[in-house]
Amino acid sequence: NIQMADRMARLPKQFFADLTRRVQAEIEAGRDIINLGQGNPDLPTPPHIVEALREAALDPATHRYGPFRGMAALKEAVAAFYARTYGIDLDPDTEVAILFGGKAGLVEVSEIYLNPGDVALVPDPGYPDYWSGIALAGARMVTLPLTADRSFLPDFEAVADADWQAAKLLFLNYPHNPTGATAPASLYTDLVEQARKHDVWVVHDFAYGAIGYDGIQPPSFLQAPGAKEVGIELYTLSKTYNMAGWRVAFAVGNPDMIAAINLFQDHYYVSLFPAVQRAAIAALTGPQDCVENLRMTYESRRNAFVGALQSLGVHCPPPGGSFFVWMPVPEGFKAVSYADMLLEKAGVAVAPGVGFGACGEGYVRIGLLTSEDRLREAAHRIAAVTR
Ligand code: PLP
Repeated sequence: NIQMADRMARLPKQFFADLTRRVQAEIEAGRDIINLGQGNPDLPTPPHIVEALREAALDPATHRYGPFRGMAALKEAVAAFYARTYGIDLDPDTEVAILFGGKAGLVEVSEIYLNPGDVALVPDPGYPDYWSGIALAGARMVTLPLTADRSFLPDFEAVADADWQAAKLLFLNYPHNPTGATAPASLYTDLVEQARKHDVWVVHDFAYGAIGYDGIQPPSFLQAPGAKEVGIELYTLSKTYNMAGWRVAFAVGNPDMIAAINLFQDHYYVSLFPAVQRAAIAALTGPQDCVENLRMTYESRRNAFVGALQSLGVHCPPPGGSFFVWMPVPEGFKAVSYADMLLEKAGVAVAPGVGFGACGEGYVRIGLLTSEDRLREAAHRIAAVTR
């Protein structure tokens, strides 16, 4: 009768596991459900990347352990990608760490830096995986409320002095899951100043960096002067290249933080599957029109879905980036009761906003993760039960 360690009891509940099971049960029972509740990209990985994996897998050299800390060619490809896309110079050896997916990287950073009693600042609403590493470390989470009246941008002045003093990490994420908000470059300038003043490490989660709308390219945190002195940016290939199942991401920026991540990972992993690393090189260095096509696909879907809702009289502001729509729930509902009602009466699965934090009350998150036709159909079904 041996119990799990105490840290396991601290892990937050997986809010979405229950919803996923219910949606799955409905689908298996033969109901026509439009599932917009999860954040799983529906589009295929571009063929040239799949082909690179196939070729690499046929080379017996990739069947052996890869080098610790990733292939030099992959880290060079990351540096070239950041130079080309954001005009940022990175030393591939000291300013790039290869991650086993962004999710693992986010948990690792907390385990690396937080002692019991330390504070980590996280956006609310925000991506729930920030909470897991903080909980494992026994640290305390302090939220940065993101509200519509501030365009879902944090108010650093509202953080209590005692919390700043105990804070070691600050997580931010733009384009933002779940609100779809994007950040102006000035936010990052301000963030660098705050990080210096209060002596915290910044972790900017740039998972949706490639998905900005209306002609605006989301800025990288590292473009802010001094950013490399105070933090890192996490970038995943999951969304940019539709490679969510491949589990490949990277961290770039502050060399001390990169060294710490490498040290930690030396004790967990040997290396990413070498064939996946070669495919990731193909993604980052190959033709990039696939990225613009993907961005345009989401933009058309956004326009189709939000446009349909608005023309049917349902209030729903369009997101500026990411592939999520953050829809205010109508009067008389809470996030959960509205999501339940949509699933039951409209056959549309959405994620209740409270799954992303207390400030998500009053909203549901809708993923633009099916065809335009199905999204229009979803909008009509939602409107029919909402007005
Ligand atoms: N960060 C955010 C905000 C996300 O939405 C996701 C994935 O959904 C991730 C990080 C992690 O992505 P991955 O683990 O696939 O690299």
